[in-house]
Amino acid sequence: MVGGGPVGLMVACELALRGVSATVLERRDAIDPTVKAAYVNVPAAEALFRRGLLPEQPKPPTQARPGAAGKSAGPRFAGHFGGLLVDASEIDESDPGWRDTGFDVGIQFLPQQVIEERLEARARESGVDVRRGVEVIDTVDRGEDVIVTCADGSEVTARWLVACDGGRSAIRKRAEVPFDGDGPTMTGRQALVRWTGADALPVGWRRTPTGVFRRLGDLVLAAEFDGAPENRDEAITSDELESSIERVAGIRPNVNEIRSATRFTDNTRVARSYRSGRILLAGDAAHVHPPFGGQGLGLGIVDATNLAWRLALVVHGHPEGLLDGYTEERRPAAEWVLQFTRAQVGVMRTDSRSRAAGEMIARLMSTRDGATILAQEVSGVRHRYELGEPPIGDTAPNVRLADGARLSDRLAAGTGALVRPEDTVDPLPFPYTLIRPDGVIAWGGDEAPEPAAWPVDVPPAAFGVTS
Ligand SMILES: Cc1cc2nc3c(=O)[nH]c(=O)nc-3n(C[C@H](O)[C@H](O)[C@H](O)COP(=O)(O)OP(=O)(O)OC[C@H]3O[C@@H](n4cnc5c(N)ncnc54)[C@H](O)[C@@H]3O)c2cc1C
Repeated sequence: MVGGGPVGLMVACELALRGVSATVLERRDAIDPTVKAAYVNVPAAEALFRRGLLPEQPKPPTQARPGAAGKSAGPRFAGHFGGLLVDASEIDESDPGWRDTGFDVGIQFLPQQVIEERLEARARESGVDVRRGVEVIDTVDRGEDVIVTCADGSEVTARWLVACDGGRSAIRKRAEVPFDGDGPTMTGRQALVRWTGADALPVGWRRTPTGVFRRLGDLVLAAEFDGAPENRDEAITSDELESSIERVAGIRPNVNEIRSATRFTDNTRVARSYRSGRILLAGDAAHVHPPFGGQGLGLGIVDATNLAWRLALVVHGHPEGLLDGYTEERRPAAEWVLQFTRAQVGVMRTDSRSRAAGEMIARLMSTRDGATILAQEVSGVRHRYELGEPPIGDTAPNVRLADGARLSDRLAAGTGALVRPEDTVDPLPFPYTLIRPDGVIAWGGDEAPEPAAWPVDVPPAAFGVTS
């Protein structure tokens, strides 16, 4: 892996779980302390749950209830859409869109650094070679392997390279993978500060005539829609932050200390392919979008779980064609998030048409259906893989098994599972259900498939079937 942010570490952990030797090259000496992700959506929370990586494992329900809607996404998260608040009291808990996975894992409110600390500890325990302070400056795909050159002149050779080096990925650029989408039109600034003169600043999300403002304690966000930042690499000064807050919120506080600060834009792009030869892209290296609605890290975590089982099988000798499904499945997931964030920027802009669209969206969001759909979208539960008729392509419910374990325990070693009627206490959608290593239902039928006539593109070995 090039890049030891959350996604690089997650890919490495998932590969190590499957016996693949993995090295992470990360230019930072320590985890980035910048305040970024505050929560991950439900699919990512479930992926972390399967690996025991949530700080406090939520208690699974006493009985999984497949088909009984509204049990899996946990406490409903009100959230916002383009700064417009979702009214939690309007959310329909019984809507079938709240797919029931039996995990009882809702959106997880976790600082990004907590996730990274846990992933790094897990990676090191699992034997991953995590090298910090190592910057990669060049990459050559030689067909049978990839060679990377580091800033100190050293070289590392690997059979495969997973580029997890963030939105401005040098590896993606070096591999000349087209990055399709829209360039930046706005500047957002988020900072954790010590300040005075801030008492009159509003708390929560506010749309103002000149932008969007949010304050949560001493964490402040000001978004202006009049162009991209001139230089994203320059440190944010107190004067820059105070001026932006004043322009957007009409009050100029005194920022005495900046404890963390970042600029962001609405650069909205996705890699045309997540694979170029022996180089694979994951996380922000494969897709960028503004952070409104908090989907980026979740998207990357699920990229990691989708890619790693495929790559591990290829490393263990299965056909490289298995990797095709990675782009085919994960690119649409990213495209959905890109559209979700484009729409938010659309209603956040300050021109009269955008304002009118925002007012209309606010009216729709005040209805039961509107609030429910928006809350489901923020939770990430509306996306599924188009692998066939549902529930093929859905996450398998985390059913109780006859031996007292849960399905998630059965998948913990990194394989999939062929679950037969006699294996479960709670019903799965089919008498015989093939569940992929990433927890997705790949196939279902009334009888067990013969390994010789395996019904899906995923090899039997991925399910732990060896004969
Ligand atoms: C203000 C803000 C708020 C956000 N809020 C949320 C949220 O609430 N929920 C959510 O899901 N997402 C959120 N996100 C998005 C989330 O932070 C990113 O999607 C996430 O960090 C992506 O992880 P990554 O590992 O792909 O990339 P990164 O976190 O960018 O990690 C890339 C790593 O690669 C390293 N690297 C880069 N180049 C090299 C090189 N040449 N050699 C070696 N190492 C290199 C970097 O140092 C870095 O550690 C937010 C983002 C921002 C900016």
